[in-house]
Amino acid sequence: MTKRTGDGVDKTLRNLSHKRETSKSAFVLLLLIYAIAAFLTTMSSRIKGQVVIFNIPFEYSSLTGVFSLLTNTCAICLVMLFHKVGYITAMILVCSSFPMMFINVFVRQNYKNIPGFFNGLMVIVAITIIFLGNRKIVDYQKSIREQAVTDRLTGLPNRFACTELMNDFLHSNSRFALVAIDLNNFKSINDTMGHDTGDLVLKAVANRWKALADSTTTYTTEFIARITGDEFMLIISDYLTNDEVETAISAYKDELEKKITIDDCDYYLTACFGYTLCPDDSSVLENILTFADAALHEVKSSGSGSRILKFSPDVLNTERSLEIERKIRSALSDNKIIYHLQPQYDMDHKLIGFEALARLKEDNGTYISPAEFIPVAEKTGLVDRIDNRVFELAVKFMGDVLKETSSDITLSVNVSVRHLMKNTFLDEIRRVLEENNVSPEHIEIEITESIMIDSADKALQRIEELKRMGMKVAIDDFGTGYSSLSYLNNFPSDMLKIDKSFIDKMNQNEVSRQYVAMIISIGHTLDLKVISEGVESQDQVEVLRSIGCDYIQGFVWGKPVPPEEARKLINAD
Ligand code: C2E
Ligand code: MG
Ligand code: MG
Repeated sequence: MTKRTGDGVDKTLRNLSHKRETSKSAFVLLLLIYAIAAFLTTMSSRIKGQVVIFNIPFEYSSLTGVFSLLTNTCAICLVMLFHKVGYITAMILVCSSFPMMFINVFVRQNYKNIPGFFNGLMVIVAITIIFLGNRKIVDYQKSIREQAVTDRLTGLPNRFACTELMNDFLHSNSRFALVAIDLNNFKSINDTMGHDTGDLVLKAVANRWKALADSTTTYTTEFIARITGDEFMLIISDYLTNDEVETAISAYKDELEKKITIDDCDYYLTACFGYTLCPDDSSVLENILTFADAALHEVKSSGSGSRILKFSPDVLNTERSLEIERKIRSALSDNKIIYHLQPQYDMDHKLIGFEALARLKEDNGTYISPAEFIPVAEKTGLVDRIDNRVFELAVKFMGDVLKETSSDITLSVNVSVRHLMKNTFLDEIRRVLEENNVSPEHIEIEITESIMIDSADKALQRIEELKRMGMKVAIDDFGTGYSSLSYLNNFPSDMLKIDKSFIDKMNQNEVSRQYVAMIISIGHTLDLKVISEGVESQDQVEVLRSIGCDYIQGFVWGKPVPPEEARKLINAD
């Protein structure tokens, strides 16, 4: 296999570690000035007569020193600006006048050239001193520049070099793939074998990958860099098809997975690779970095067999999920999970109760919607803690209301399947009710229709127990699942909650209206009460009234409100 050209990579590396050169035109200009000044120096020393400058007469020979000074200045500038090249050029220029001067002095016995000869010698001494002094500074600058783009431990280019190369590719509209790499379980090597061994392993990995990048094993051109710790980045360019990108990554994966032996110990390493393509996925540097990282995190957290993942927009959702998970965890420990209460009314607009809805308060005072954080909480096993928190807070509120008023309202709480199935579920519910002196008759547990299908038997036992305790049970979001009528018939529920999506469509056509009417009728046949969720207009209220709906929950009569506001509604009723 032969690599396609890697000019872009080489050029960028050269540019990064070498100071950008002073322009060639400055060099030519200095040479030109030098030549003119040298010519004028010779001419002015030979020509007799005067020249008038600003009305002042000057002997030609008196200008010789000025022109000679100009040549010396040019020589010094050459050394200062062009270092070694400038020094050699200046030496050639200065020394080129020596043979002529020798001939004049020693052959033609023209002693007028002796000062010029000494002048030349002084210039040589001066530019040599400048050159040697300058070289130390230049070497020092070069080493600093190299350090700025090189990772100290491994000698690979670092993150800065990586982003510079990507910037170059972006400017030249070249396509490339960015691969974010993270070694798996590297921490365990550090923890068990010590950091020195960990460093040696990292060096070994870097050497292998560098050798692979320099080799002709892959068709593509690669640039490997170490970012920090056990994180690396690979930039792949000069590929013809997207498949070639994955082939190249596989080569790096295979190379890594070969045994590494350090101090007679064998190490078997693996890594995860997340990659993104530019410009296919994005042509903005920040996005490219984010996308590669997101793909990497996805492949790391998925725990699936595959260790190479291409970025796709879904991956960002996982990033968002991780962020939400973090927020839920900190909200749980900082008591930032709170609840709002949405009023429920009968058809005469009389308050019958509230549904407690979880809220996750952000530091800036805004809320993350439960529609977003509850699914994440369900996936990460945090939902029962949220349910419990909301339950405790809302039952405490109910306890206070029942103690202080003669209200006969019901509190509806949402319970996730996961929470319901927990062995401690019933005991927790009992404890909270007892602590707050709230009788179970005032509590309604909302479960979703899917419970009936997914976990029917166990769920049934739990729900029967709740019923025995005296609680009510509502089937939430009814109509969105696929439960059969026989499930519904066997399920000891008290209330059907018709999902908002049916209410939304209800007034659009007769069929949708009939559908809602049918659900209500089925509910009544099974001796259940029916509440419509998400009712937003008075028209909907009227239609629901006409088809026999029992209760209304929706923005038309009340949005979810903080407990203090709910308290006002109770007092006003
Ligand atoms: P849900 O139990 O079906 O709750 C009703 C949702 O519909 C609430 O959204 C409520 O604000 C919204 N809603 C009610 N009336 C209207 C209306 O007229 N128009 C509109 N546009 N929306 C209306 P929310 O508070 O965002 O809750 C979303 C879902 O999150 C809830 O749906 C429930 O499934 C879940 N959830 C909320 N709190 C908890 C909790 O403490 N535990 C569990 N497990 N799930 C919860
Ligand atoms: Mg609900
Ligand atoms: Mg609902």
